Amino acid sequence: MRTVYVNGEFVPENEAKISVFDRGFTFADAIYEVTTVLRGRLVDIELHLARLRRSLGELALTLPLSDEALLTIHRELIARNQLEEGLIYLQVSRGVADRNFHFPAADTPPTVVMFSQAKKIVDSVPALQGIKVITLPDLRWGRCDIKTTQLLYACMAKEQAKALGADDAWLVKDGLITEGTSNNAFIVTGDGAIVTRDLSHALLPGITRGVISALLSEHQLRLEQRAWTIEEAEQATEAFITSATSFVWPVIALNGQPIGDGKPGVITQRLRQIYLDHALAVLK
Ligand code: PMP
Repeated sequence: MRTVYVNGEFVPENEAKISVFDRGFTFADAIYEVTTVLRGRLVDIELHLARLRRSLGELALTLPLSDEALLTIHRELIARNQLEEGLIYLQVSRGVADRNFHFPAADTPPTVVMFSQAKKIVDSVPALQGIKVITLPDLRWGRCDIKTTQLLYACMAKEQAKALGADDAWLVKDGLITEGTSNNAFIVTGDGAIVTRDLSHALLPGITRGVISALLSEHQLRLEQRAWTIEEAEQATEAFITSATSFVWPVIALNGQPIGDGKPGVITQRLRQIYLDHALAVLK
C-alpha cells in the first residue's frame, strides 16, 4: 500500500481523506503537475515547479509551501514508497467551501495532495513500437495553457481513439492541430524541420516539449514553432509526441494511414535518446 501526502501529512492511501466540499471535486477548481522519477530521483523538477507557480498565478490560487518544501515532499514520497521509476502527482485545489460559483475567501486553505505511481518510463512498449493517433475536434476550454484538472474531454478523446483501434488523439481547432490529449504533438517535414505548435492559450507549455525544443539546435536539428494542418501531418516523414511520463513516443499512423514508412522514425528515435540523456543528467 502506498503512502500519500494530504495537507501536511503522510498517510496510508486507504486512510487519506478529502472533503466532499473540496472545490477540486465540485468544480475541477484545481491544478496539477506530474514529475517523472527515474532511478529514484526527479526529472526537471525545477521546471515543473515553475509551471506550477504559473498555473497558480493564472487562477489566483495561493499555496503556502515553498519550492524547497515541495521538493522535500516529493523526495519523501519517493523514499517512503521506494519508487524507482514512475511519477509524482501533485494537485492543489482552492480548498473546502460551501458549493458556490464564486471563489471562497482568499484565506481559505488550499487542498494539497501528492502521491506516487510506479510506471515504466525507459523501457516502455509504445516507445519502441510507436502509437497510432486519430484526429478529433478540440472541444476543450480556451485556457489549455493552464494545467487544470478538468481532463474530462481528454479522457473522452482517448476513449474514442481506443474505440477506433488507435492509441490516442490529436486535437484540431480551426483546422489546425493544437496538441495531443495529454502530450504535445510534433511532425518532421520532408525538408527535415521539426515542427510543433507555437505556444498560446490553445495548448499546454509541456516541459518535455520545451526541453526537446531547446536541445534541437545543439544537435543540428531545426525547430519550427507554428501551426499545421491534418493534411501536412499526413505528408510528414515522421511524427511523435512528448510528455513527462512518455518522454518521446513515435507516432506511426494518423487516422489509419501510416506516417512515413509506418515505423518509428530515425529522428524521433534519436530525440528520445537525446531526451533520455538529458533526463539522466538533471536528476535531482
Ligand atoms: N499537453 C497536455 C494537454 C498534457 O496534459 C500534457 C501532460 N500533462 C502535455 C501536453 C505534456 O506536458 P509535459 O511535457 O509537461 O508532461
